Amino acid sequence: MKIICIGRNYVDHIKELNNAIPTSPVFFLKPDTSLLIRNRPFFYPAFSDNIHYEVELVLKICKVGRNIQKKFASAYFDEIGIGLDMTARDLQDTAKDKGLPWTVAKGFDQSAPVSKFLPKTDFNDLKNINFHLDLNGTKVQQGNSGLMMYDFDDIILNISKFMTLRTGDYIFTGTPAGVGPVKVGDKLEAWIEEEKLLSCLIK
Ligand code: MG
Repeated sequence: MKIICIGRNYVDHIKELNNAIPTSPVFFLKPDTSLLIRNRPFFYPAFSDNIHYEVELVLKICKVGRNIQKKFASAYFDEIGIGLDMTARDLQDTAKDKGLPWTVAKGFDQSAPVSKFLPKTDFNDLKNINFHLDLNGTKVQQGNSGLMMYDFDDIILNISKFMTLRTGDYIFTGTPAGVGPVKVGDKLEAWIEEEKLLSCLIK
């Protein structure tokens, strides 16, 4: 399976990192070895001094497809969860400065903690899903799927122009404002609406 991540999908987050608003979705990959499931702890890696959390809604792909038309896109995912796009911001800043890929900054081991998934049918309106992240019990990020520049269907359409989507692939759909650093001993908890789905201790 592969994990595809959308960058720069919420205007408030684009502004906080002083990035330009993209004219098409920015995306990148994480390898399957980045997955961290069942609320296992995240071990702070030795190669970075500035690991950031980014909370994101995550889609699970349920059908193989390429060049998917927008009107059919919603048939290609059947579950929604929440994840953390853990980012070595120091390595990413260096890569950005040099015009190099973000691979190590975004794709290191454990950089993709993901919750259990909920059936899409649990949601009344996919354009109005609230989610948030608590750091040590204080809310640090909150988002709503209606604020995404590229909605779920746009994301699937755009990715599938370039890459075949396969059953079991995950799509991280971008983070709202409020990203920030973690330190050893922190606890991250991610919620969709009123349900806490993900808990992650930094060790
Ligand atoms: Mg992200």
